[in-house]
Amino acid sequence: MHALVERLYPLCRSITGDGVRATLDIVGEHLELEVHEVPTGTQVLDWTVPREWNIRDAYVKDPSGTRVVDFRRSNLHVVGYSVPVSAVMTLDELRPHLHTLPEQPGLVPYRTSYYAETWGFCLSQDTLDGMGPGPYEVVIDSTLADGHLTYAEHVVRGRTDEEVLISCHVCHPSLANDNLAGIAVATALAGRLREPRHTYRFLFAPGTIGAITWLARNRERTGRVRHGLTLACAGDPGALTYKRSRRGDAPIDRVMTAVLRDRPHTVVDFAPYGYDERQFCSPGFNLPVGSLTRTPYAGYPEYHTSGDDVGFVSPEAMADTLDALWAAVQVLERDGRYQNLSPYGEPQLGRRGLYGSLGGRSDTKQAQMAMLWVLNLSDGDHGLLDIAQRSGLPFGAVAEAAGALEGAGLLKRVGEGG
Ligand code: ZN
Repeated sequence: MHALVERLYPLCRSITGDGVRATLDIVGEHLELEVHEVPTGTQVLDWTVPREWNIRDAYVKDPSGTRVVDFRRSNLHVVGYSVPVSAVMTLDELRPHLHTLPEQPGLVPYRTSYYAETWGFCLSQDTLDGMGPGPYEVVIDSTLADGHLTYAEHVVRGRTDEEVLISCHVCHPSLANDNLAGIAVATALAGRLREPRHTYRFLFAPGTIGAITWLARNRERTGRVRHGLTLACAGDPGALTYKRSRRGDAPIDRVMTAVLRDRPHTVVDFAPYGYDERQFCSPGFNLPVGSLTRTPYAGYPEYHTSGDDVGFVSPEAMADTLDALWAAVQVLERDGRYQNLSPYGEPQLGRRGLYGSLGGRSDTKQAQMAMLWVLNLSDGDHGLLDIAQRSGLPFGAVAEAAGALEGAGLLKRVGEGG
């Protein structure tokens, strides 16, 4: 995952353009992707697909010919969607187009201007403080022209049409935690799924306009989305954060709360801000989509700065995010409601070989407890996740007990989770 982040890091992504395509090409080496190209001007819900932006070079050159601000050194140096410029300017003339972070003088900010035509450079306050009066040669070699918006899907077909939607944004340039870590974790998760019950749809799309485009083109299919997560900020050192769906009591909300129970974590309520849960949870769709991050959106000093680099995200943190997601997948796949077929008194487990059939020596007691809980609460109303929560036992132990009891003819599956 970290190697993938490192590889994607230098690419100049935006909401459209070749940086997104190059990113999807690399993700496509790991996953089979269906890439969609949607033309400029296409109406998508209340929005319109914008012109496509591409950039080749940009710099601010001082009188000695030195590039004091250089796109080739970091793509954060140019305001995203800058229109082309070629001019000679004094520092005072240039200043309105320069963006710095006076409070973090060593860092370069990340800025965009998608829907207002302008241009600009981002640089550290330290660099700006060292700049003389000029004149400066100012060049942005970019194109803003009719083209396409690009996004991609990877679908793992399940035994049912019921979908789990995992979405991450692919529109930020050299920012590691805020988009690349999510892409890497989603890619790893997709690679792990084998013949699942649900169909898993992974969406790699530019933030906001990409999600809106996907929703516009899949309007009639959104009813299939039974569970969903937006995945972002997946690799920073902070603890996991789950933000509930707008519904607040969707199965994914219960599942994520349960999965995070035994880890350092925070659970917060839905708010119409953040990543593309804003679109999936807009009232017309109101999909059961929550948001998984480590430190949330805008919650760390490196957020939207050059400090969010490959060193800010760690293999361990991404592995931990993936592990939590994998645990959630286990619950989504295995949860269900069962009926105890021998509910009058406890069935005799020893006679059926169930005491010896599960687990090793150390977890025998846990396996027995799981069987007793499953038998007791399997009245058709409680799901396995309910049973795990009420008993305090790990979901995996409860699911295994249910499997063993079903195999022994003591239990019958009667429906989805509780
Ligand atoms: Zn961002």
